[in-house]
Amino acid sequence: MAIVVQKYGGTSVGTIDKIKNVAKRVAKRKKSGDEIVVVVSAMGKTTDILMGMAEEISQNPDRRELDMLMSTGEQVSISLLSIALKELGYDCISLTGLQAGIQTEGSHTKARITDIEIENVRKHVTEEKIVVVAGFQGVDEKGNITTLGRGGSDTTAVALAAKLNSVCEIYTDVDGIYTVDPRLFSTAKKLDYISYEEMVEMASLGADVMETRSIEIAQRFNVPIYVALSTEEWPGTYIKEFDDSMESKVITGLSVSDDDIMITINHVPYGARNISKIFQSLALNDINVDMISQTAPFNGYINISFTAPQRDKFLIDGVLEEIKADLVGIEVDVEEDITKLSVVGIGMKSQSGVAANMFKIFADNDIEFKQVTTSEIRISYTINTNDKEKAVVAVAREFNL
Ligand code: ADP
Ligand code: ASP
Ligand code: MG
Repeated sequence: MAIVVQKYGGTSVGTIDKIKNVAKRVAKRKKSGDEIVVVVSAMGKTTDILMGMAEEISQNPDRRELDMLMSTGEQVSISLLSIALKELGYDCISLTGLQAGIQTEGSHTKARITDIEIENVRKHVTEEKIVVVAGFQGVDEKGNITTLGRGGSDTTAVALAAKLNSVCEIYTDVDGIYTVDPRLFSTAKKLDYISYEEMVEMASLGADVMETRSIEIAQRFNVPIYVALSTEEWPGTYIKEFDDSMESKVITGLSVSDDDIMITINHVPYGARNISKIFQSLALNDINVDMISQTAPFNGYINISFTAPQRDKFLIDGVLEEIKADLVGIEVDVEEDITKLSVVGIGMKSQSGVAANMFKIFADNDIEFKQVTTSEIRISYTINTNDKEKAVVAVAREFNL
C-alpha cells in the first residue's frame, strides 16, 4: 500500500463543479489502490477576499486575528471536498491543521511548521479513509491558529509527505514548471524535471507556482514532488535532487517578482554601527530584507539601498521613522515600481560570463538596472517595472528559455 499526498490549489477548487471534479480524481486514484491524503487550499480568491475584509477595518489588522480569519478559507474547502467524496461513496474525513497535528512556531501570518504529530492522520489512513487536510494552517505552542504565509498549502502537503515518507503530487492550473511564468512569456518551455536547488531559487525569486519553504522541506527530507495539471491527465514536472541524468543548464529558468519595494537611505554617516542599527530595527520587526547595496564612503557618508516585501510596507514605514529620529540628517526614498528579475541555473556554478551576457542584453535593449546580486546559481537585477516585459522577452529569447 503506497501513501500519496496530493495537493489541489485555490483555482483547482474554485467552484463547486471543480470540487466535484477533484473528488472524482481523488476517488479514481483511491480505487487504483493507493492511500490518499489530500491537502486543499481555500476556494479561488477566498484568502484575498478575507484579507480585504480585514483591511477595510484596519490598515494594520491584528495578525493573530488575521490568522483566525484566513484559516477559515481552507476549512470551507476541506468540508466541501469531503462531502463530495462521501457523495461518491468513499469513506473520508476532513481535518483542520490542529486536528492533523501540524505544529508551528514564529510570527502570525508567516509561521513555520516545526513538526507534525502524524498519529491521527495515520490512524485514518490505516482505516483506509481518504484524509482531507486543510492547507496553509497549523497551531502554535500556545494553541493559537497560525498560517504559513501565502501559498503555504504547498508546504503543508510536502511536510505531510515527509512525515508519511510518501511522494507529493501538486495539482494546479498549469501543467508543470516552466522556464518562465507562462503568463509573462507565452512561449516558455515546460521542464520535465528541475532540481530542488534551482526550484528553491526560482520560487523565492518570484515563481510562485511553488512556495519556497515547501521545496526547502522537500530537499531536506528528499520528498519527490510532481507538479501537474489538476483538470487533465497530462505529463507534468518532477522536482528532485540533482543527479547525473539531469542536464546542468547554465540558465534553467527566469523568475520575476513585483512583490518588493526598494528603500534607499542617503547620507548615512559611515560606520558599521549605523548600518547595523538600521538592519537590527528591520530584523526586530520580522522584515525580510533581500538585495542590499551600498555606495563607497564619500566625505564620511554612504548611501544604502535594500529591497523588502511590499506587504510589510506599514511595518517598514514605522522602522524608517525610528531610523530618521536616530540618524539625524538622513534622507529616505521609497520606490514602489521596481521589479526583480533573476536568472537561475545550476550550470552557473562552473560557467562564467553569464553576468556579462546579461549586462549586454540590458545595454542592447536600453534597460537600466538599479542593483545586482549574485549567488552560486543565480543573478538578480532590480529594474523599473515599466521595463519588465521588454526585459523578460529579451532575456528569455537570448537564453532560449
Ligand atoms: P495554486 O492555486 O494551485 O497554488 P498558484 O497560483 O499558486 O496555484 O501557482 C500557479 C501559477 O504559478 C500558474 O498559473 C503560473 O502562472 C504561475 N507561475 C509562476 N512562475 C511559474 C513557472 N516558472 N512555471 C509555471 N507556473 C508559474
Ligand atoms: N489559501 C492560501 C493562499 O491563498 C494558501 C494557498 O493557497 O496555498 O495563500
Ligand atoms: Mg500556490
